[in-house]
Amino acid sequence: MKKFRKKIIAGNWKMNKTVAEGEDLATGVKRELDECPDVDVVLCPPFTALKSVGDAIADSVIKLGAQNMHWQDYGAQTGEICPAMLRDLYCHYVILGHSERRRDFKETDKVVNLKVKAAIQAHLVPIVCIGETQKQREAGKTEDVVRDQVTGSLSGLGDSITKLVIAYEPVWAIGTGLTATPEQAQEVHAFIRGVLTDMADENSAESIRIQYGGSMKPANAAELLSQPDIDGGLIGGAALVAGSFVEIVRAAM
Ligand code: PEP
Repeated sequence: MKKFRKKIIAGNWKMNKTVAEGEDLATGVKRELDECPDVDVVLCPPFTALKSVGDAIADSVIKLGAQNMHWQDYGAQTGEICPAMLRDLYCHYVILGHSERRRDFKETDKVVNLKVKAAIQAHLVPIVCIGETQKQREAGKTEDVVRDQVTGSLSGLGDSITKLVIAYEPVWAIGTGLTATPEQAQEVHAFIRGVLTDMADENSAESIRIQYGGSMKPANAAELLSQPDIDGGLIGGAALVAGSFVEIVRAAM
């Protein structure tokens, strides 16, 4: 049975914005979106700006997210951040398994799975990224790749599988200006929901939100977001300017 899924728009600032710049951007977004009951809005600044951005959005509907974390509770992991540290800064969400981390830091589905479990355990909502490369798409392997990433990254979650958000981000569309057409994106989103149905059950699969990511911008957001299985967006470049991010949120209303 089709369920209502509240749209979720998250800004992934990546390695951009100092403390002061982050505060400015967050304040700009908040000014425009002080009331936004129909859409979940999330800002994911770099670790160093989590505190200032969190303070800037504290009395608003906007939620805070991080871009990564380690799966262990504490310990000898130089340069890493654990779930409790994110909770300490009032993070609600954490992006996990972004393709840039899979590509540059060799994060595997197994590692992403450990992180997803640790995030849920710490009451953080994981935004789990999956998506095929251009080479894989051209070789007709999109469904195989996406199925492996979903089953690998989300294995062993049981009923907790409903406590996360998935971001389908075709790697060839990230930061390239190329966007999947609404039809291409919808096709993969529906396929992902089918995989989730096989892993859990139809009710659970229908309740999980699947964002699209990959050069989403004001000009293409409304059409992408009107697809039946596209439940929001994970926004990179267009989230770095308050005006364009806010326009995308409005397109989701
Ligand atoms: C991303 O990296 O999550 C992303 C979607 O980036 P962009 O919007 O810049 O393609």
